[in-house]
Amino acid sequence: MEILDGKATSAAIKADLKVKVNEMVNAGHKAPHLVAILVGENPASKAYVGNKIKFCQEVGYRSTLLTFNADITEDQLHKEIHKLNNDPEVDGYIVQLPLPKHISEDKILEIVNPEKDVDGFHPVNVGKMVSGLPSYLPATPYGITKIMEHYGISAEGKFVVILGRSHIVGRPMSILLSQSRPYGNGTVVVCHSRTKNLEELTRKADILVAAIGIPQFVKAEMVKDGAVIIDVGINRIDDTTRTRGWRLVGDVDFDAVSEKASYITPVPGGVGPMTIAGLMLNCYHAAQKRV
Ligand code: NAD
Repeated sequence: MEILDGKATSAAIKADLKVKVNEMVNAGHKAPHLVAILVGENPASKAYVGNKIKFCQEVGYRSTLLTFNADITEDQLHKEIHKLNNDPEVDGYIVQLPLPKHISEDKILEIVNPEKDVDGFHPVNVGKMVSGLPSYLPATPYGITKIMEHYGISAEGKFVVILGRSHIVGRPMSILLSQSRPYGNGTVVVCHSRTKNLEELTRKADILVAAIGIPQFVKAEMVKDGAVIIDVGINRIDDTTRTRGWRLVGDVDFDAVSEKASYITPVPGGVGPMTIAGLMLNCYHAAQKRV
């Protein structure tokens, strides 16, 4: 079994981006500029945004963090987004989710300028992705294709089972891995909360992607010998042996499943760092459009 090391793969992407940003700046262009919008005090969101800003600093991007109180009105937030849409200094921006309940995430998604939508969530970018046209790819599935590329794992001709059908992970992952594209060409089945006989399908999977948000859901008996396991889940479970009282686990029972897998992503240190790498690659592509 080999660990699919997201930290190391993301570090390799970081090093490559650093060189490219240097070249961009040496050629007289401004470095890519990412803006992150953070609303409220959600600690996980703060940590995610902090990691994104840190990555920007490490590769030489310009970055701006815009923070707003949780009681910002929907109208005010829309105005801030329109400002970013029209600011030529901003290459790309993200609105960290989740947003407070009084703000519609769907409405926000629709007013984001698709050209600056480095999260790849705008319907225009989703439509382009589905049609196989160049577009910003959603960061997590994009990052997963990059770690597959790094380790030379192709879905071509493989039976791929994806657990979860969310718009940000499961659904786009199923599209990318079934498309005729490098590391794609898989035969893909998407499972969800209404799927019957789920284990019959997972046991046949050459590549299993778990993105459901249930701690350690995938057990060893659900997995074929030699399968490639991509664990997207990030779940907190109680752990009294840790001083903070909890630890992070994925949607896969790592210890048992890793005995059967050929490759497996750990949690943390697997898909998480690749998601940030995917976002940063999108931001670089956004900046390239103006150079
Ligand atoms: P979600 O929470 O929006 O949806 C969960 C999906 O799982 C749904 O499609 C549902 O139908 C399916 N599901 C629920 N119970 C199921 C069951 N018993 N059997 C089969 N399918 C079932 O999903 P999400 O936003 O894609 O998040 C999934 C997990 O991935 C979460 O733990 C989340 O924190 C994590 N996540 C991690 C990253 C990362 O960078 N590593 C990025 C995004 C999400």
